[in-house]
Amino acid sequence: MAIPERFLEELVARCDISDVVADYVPLTKKGSNLWGLCPFHSEKTPSFSVNPDRQIYHCFGCNKGGGVISFVMEMENLPFPDAVRLLAKRSGMEMPETGEDGDFRKRRERLLALNRDAARYYYENLRKPEGASVSEYIGKRKLLPQTVKRFGLGASLDAWDTLLTAMVGKGYDKRELLDAGLAAAGKGGSLYDKFRNRLMLPVIDLRGDVVGFTSRSIDGSEPKYLNTPETPLFRKRSVVYGLNFAKSSKRGSLVLVEGNLDVITLHQAGFDNAVATMGTVLTDEHARILSRYTKELVVCYDNDDAGKEATRRALGILKNADLSVKVLQLPRRIGEDGKSLKQDADDFIKYQGAAAFERMLGGSVNHIDYRLSELELKYNLKSDEDRIAYLKEAAELLAVLQSPVEREVYGNKAAAAAGISPEVVSSEIKRMQGRNIRGERKKQERTALAPTAQIQPKERALRYQNPRSARAEEGVVRLVLLDPTLLREAKSLEKEDFTVPFLGRTYELLRQRWEEGRSTQIGMLDGTLTAEEMGRLTQILQQPEALERGREAMADYLDIIDTEHTKRADGGETDPLLAARDKKIAGQYKYR
Ligand SMILES: [Zn+2]
Repeated sequence: MAIPERFLEELVARCDISDVVADYVPLTKKGSNLWGLCPFHSEKTPSFSVNPDRQIYHCFGCNKGGGVISFVMEMENLPFPDAVRLLAKRSGMEMPETGEDGDFRKRRERLLALNRDAARYYYENLRKPEGASVSEYIGKRKLLPQTVKRFGLGASLDAWDTLLTAMVGKGYDKRELLDAGLAAAGKGGSLYDKFRNRLMLPVIDLRGDVVGFTSRSIDGSEPKYLNTPETPLFRKRSVVYGLNFAKSSKRGSLVLVEGNLDVITLHQAGFDNAVATMGTVLTDEHARILSRYTKELVVCYDNDDAGKEATRRALGILKNADLSVKVLQLPRRIGEDGKSLKQDADDFIKYQGAAAFERMLGGSVNHIDYRLSELELKYNLKSDEDRIAYLKEAAELLAVLQSPVEREVYGNKAAAAAGISPEVVSSEIKRMQGRNIRGERKKQERTALAPTAQIQPKERALRYQNPRSARAEEGVVRLVLLDPTLLREAKSLEKEDFTVPFLGRTYELLRQRWEEGRSTQIGMLDGTLTAEEMGRLTQILQQPEALERGREAMADYLDIIDTEHTKRADGGETDPLLAARDKKIAGQYKYR
């Protein structure tokens, strides 16, 4: 790591993890830990913990964990050096600019400059004769010149290398064009323009940088929409298109639409709070980012089956996000031939106008109302059989609501819709709640009774080959993290003796740091180990360890590692009987 160790140690010492986390997540003290709702997965009861003594966070739900730097990396979606920079700024420390970090920054700045220059080039193409077809398309969509300028729309030309030639002419090399996702490599290794004959929409992040592009074909060619591939600058799952403008909207909410072009049309029509994801899949990360900028989100996806499905999925993701969610369902449009047509926000504005959209927005319904109305459409409430099915599904939906008032209000609505007495609905909801609780308890019992399953890390990449040795290796790492002087007891242990490579690496890193007199605090491994590995380490630390008997415990662990090692050397590993026995032992094995 090119950022000096001493700087990192000072930084970690100055940035108390409970303070940093508390900036993002409300925490309550319970025992020696602080608890809150996990910012990385959806939940209703806190399983996210911060341990101020060890300066770590760990979520018992999604197994994310690490030190203060990795928390900021996850939360702000930043690479290591940027997370360090942010924390340095927070604690008033001057960031040393040296080596790798400087290079990294320079490279990032080069790619950003390239994207900006490409956007400018695409924009200028609109005035060239070769860009006429895209200009016409913009005219057909009734986008005004000031809108085109504000969103930086442009045209990629119907040719293989015009962007390449222009950017190489500006001093960028081909590697940079590839890295920015603006060029692709052909069979012979020669490069060609990734975007051709398309309407180009630069994707601008919250800092105002062009991080990538999305584009639409104008001649019916496939794919209709094409995005920049994942690059160091462009991560699809965390980009919210239009948020750079929408974040300063005076309207009290954000409107989430399906298409990037819908965002532009809505902004032009005065709805400067419209945003979209890149593609319709909404992620937890999107939800987190959105909740930072608004308290109310209106989901307004297309009114076809795909849009409804996307709405259902989005509501699932947004269920526990810290914002109130509404759904705006656009009516279908009757075409000239009398057929009902699908309609997106763009069509709606075009045919019904902005005032009508404003009215729709005002009438957008709470997400529970939306789901209930979906159910009403699904069933024929005149038929007894369907009414029973409706009641079941509605009760299931309402049973997960936390507030008894909400349960009653929506329960009454469901009762009225189906013509059933509110008491029956309410008792059905209670029955479902009971079933949910029993299901949850059973699930917990099952995991508690399956120790081998518990031993295995959830992440496939970290699966253990030899659970018995792995448990002991975990023990060694845990002891070293708790008391590094115990390394004295493990003089003979080498990285190669570990069956789990990442535990071996961790052990080696800790030993090195200890020998050089540096901090062996787990947070110091942030950025060196992967996020999954950090999560696994914080999980390992949660298991109880009797430190007062640390030396004996270390000796026991070393003994197991050694025995297992000998067994493997004897070829025991390939013996299925032995493997089966190992599994059984591992299942029964319990540490103090
Ligand atoms: Zn979590």
